[in-house]
Amino acid sequence: MDKGPLILNVKLVIGISACCMGAHVRYNSKGWDMLMNLGREKSEFVWCPVCPEVFSGMGVPRDPIHISGESGKSVWQGEGKIKSRSGKELTENLKTGCQVSLDILKRTGAKAYIYMDGSPTCGVYRTTLKNKRTGKPPGVFGALLHDEGYFLIPATDLQSPVKWWDWKRRLLAFLWLQDAVIINKRELYEVWYKYKFLCQELDEKWAREKGRELAALKNEVDRDYIENFRNEILELLRKPSTLNKIVNRLWKHYSHYRKVTGETIEGISGQDSFRNATTAARELNKIERASEEKGIVFGTSPVILRGNKNR
Ligand code: SF4
Repeated sequence: MDKGPLILNVKLVIGISACCMGAHVRYNSKGWDMLMNLGREKSEFVWCPVCPEVFSGMGVPRDPIHISGESGKSVWQGEGKIKSRSGKELTENLKTGCQVSLDILKRTGAKAYIYMDGSPTCGVYRTTLKNKRTGKPPGVFGALLHDEGYFLIPATDLQSPVKWWDWKRRLLAFLWLQDAVIINKRELYEVWYKYKFLCQELDEKWAREKGRELAALKNEVDRDYIENFRNEILELLRKPSTLNKIVNRLWKHYSHYRKVTGETIEGISGQDSFRNATTAARELNKIERASEEKGIVFGTSPVILRGNKNR
């Protein structure tokens, strides 16, 4: 079995709420460039900005809209409505804008989307930015993307280097596994060998049980078992880790790296050193790169992106 990392050889397309990529398309003509925080890493991806509210025919500036009903999901079920502050109903307009945006994302091949939380359209966990209220989540576009199986990343997490690192490694693992050809027990074991450390970090109890279950398999596995295994891991990969867990694993896997190579990496501090979000991300990126060069899996990041410019 190849002991190196799995390779995702694509130029990855990521959809993004246009207002988070610097476009001044919010109802009040504002926007933020959240990708600025990624620095040079930004050029590793192809970005596809969409604004469902603008694509629905509402201009900039415009009256803010809100969900009248339970949630954005209820709008698709025909129960909820979308209304502007002045009371104008815009339900069908916004549904069209969301469908147009989804169509654009699909045509670019994007399977992940960075969303602006707090919007009645793009929000996933909040549809308002007022105080600590959550509004009526998910938003109308957020609900549509969720149903379509998109890997959803909150734009605010791009501001923390370690949170972005965590989203990126889970995204790569998600996309590789989504399309992986697994047809027998041997291939299933090979995938588990590469994914188990990340799964253990995200949900130790589940991963230990899954490991025991796989070890006890006697017969060849059928298609349903394989698809169930795949879907369980894909769901787990949507779940963020924590700084504490990430730092613990960083040291564990760095110890493995030193044991296998007999080398240390410059710039990695001691086990008990204090690491904040920035220093942890810097060290993680260094270990990831060094592991790739040595052909060793860095357990917390099983999949490496090699951008294919020809897509
Ligand atoms: S949150 Fe979505 S709908 Fe609202 S301005 Fe941003 S991109 Fe447009």
